[in-house]
Amino acid sequence: MDSVVSVTRLEKNVDSSVRRAIDRVGGMASVVEPGETIYLKPNFVAPRASSHGVTTDFEIIRVVADEVLRCGGRPIIFETPAIEFDKRKVYQALGVYDFTRLNNIPLIENFSDLIKIPVPGGKVFRSLRIPRILDKAKIINLPKLKTHVSAKMTCAMKNLIGLLPDSEKRRVHIRGVSASIADLGRVFKPILTVVDAMTCLEGDGPTYGNKVDLGLIISGRNMVSVDKVCSQIIGLPWQEVKYIDLGDGSPSQENVHVVGEPVEEVKTRFDIPQKSVFFHLGFRLIYTLDVVFSKIFSKPFNRFLYSTGHVGTNPKILRERCDRCGDCIEACPFPSALNIEGYKVNYKSCIRCLECYLACKREAISLKGISKPRK
Ligand code: SF4
Ligand code: SF4
Repeated sequence: MDSVVSVTRLEKNVDSSVRRAIDRVGGMASVVEPGETIYLKPNFVAPRASSHGVTTDFEIIRVVADEVLRCGGRPIIFETPAIEFDKRKVYQALGVYDFTRLNNIPLIENFSDLIKIPVPGGKVFRSLRIPRILDKAKIINLPKLKTHVSAKMTCAMKNLIGLLPDSEKRRVHIRGVSASIADLGRVFKPILTVVDAMTCLEGDGPTYGNKVDLGLIISGRNMVSVDKVCSQIIGLPWQEVKYIDLGDGSPSQENVHVVGEPVEEVKTRFDIPQKSVFFHLGFRLIYTLDVVFSKIFSKPFNRFLYSTGHVGTNPKILRERCDRCGDCIEACPFPSALNIEGYKVNYKSCIRCLECYLACKREAISLKGISKPRK
């Protein structure tokens, strides 16, 4: 069953489709024992909704949690957004607090108790510091299928970066994202992966690419097999996804057995980002500076850079087009970030979710920065 990957088309509703996707790879009872604590790892990387193709759909999380409960397990959500975003603001904007409260699913937010664990056969790490509660924890991986500016694709294996504290995330970006992801796959072995491939992201992912409606749920017990099938579906040979290639000898492509929809029938071609060597070097430089900066100022360097409004993808109000209708303020999760009287954005409180940009019908909000999603 380890090499079985299910490709399930979204039919009727998300609830029945997710349950079918889980049943097709052996069912929840085959991986969860009564009384066990099961950590659910969604993708809440940034304050951008699942409908924009960025984060995991809440309905998938709810159904998976319900399946765990039905097997007598205890689901707990564990996730951390990208360093450049403030976690509480991301969770507030996405509605994570409302979701967990309404569905009575515990959410772990504080995990200062870290433990150092070895990375057997690691490419770039001999050891990693992880939250103590995750040592030998049973994890269900709930990634989003997207393209990625530095790793080409982000799905099951890359989603594990969100299990690390910020200090280790910096090391991951400095030592090389792909080799680090392969090492994470040596440490964390999720018991099940259920991919949200309903609305995906292509282009400049993981945050500001363009959404693609794929309408699929992809599941499997082996996350490397799942990633191989997902890369095929987005038209990217898995050998070009370095972290899959550097992986730990999980089933070869020939041994992956796909059930449900044949890959050939759902296969498409995503816009895969190709960034220059200078882009990748700049990325590493920012995280290197961040090591020192965060120690001195107790906040991440890139979060500081983005709050200046000069770096990253930011909204800008075009005075000549704006009629002060207020639609952007209504859409903004932190309305004090917008001053339409003065046609200004306060980049210190703006969380770069781009809801204002998407809400403005007069195209009076433009975006500054390299990555720009299509409207
Ligand atoms: S939605 Fe557009 S036109 Fe309306 S106030 Fe905002 S920027 Fe101006
Ligand atoms: S100003 Fe725009 S991008 Fe910034 S938080 Fe508000 S809606 Fe999001």
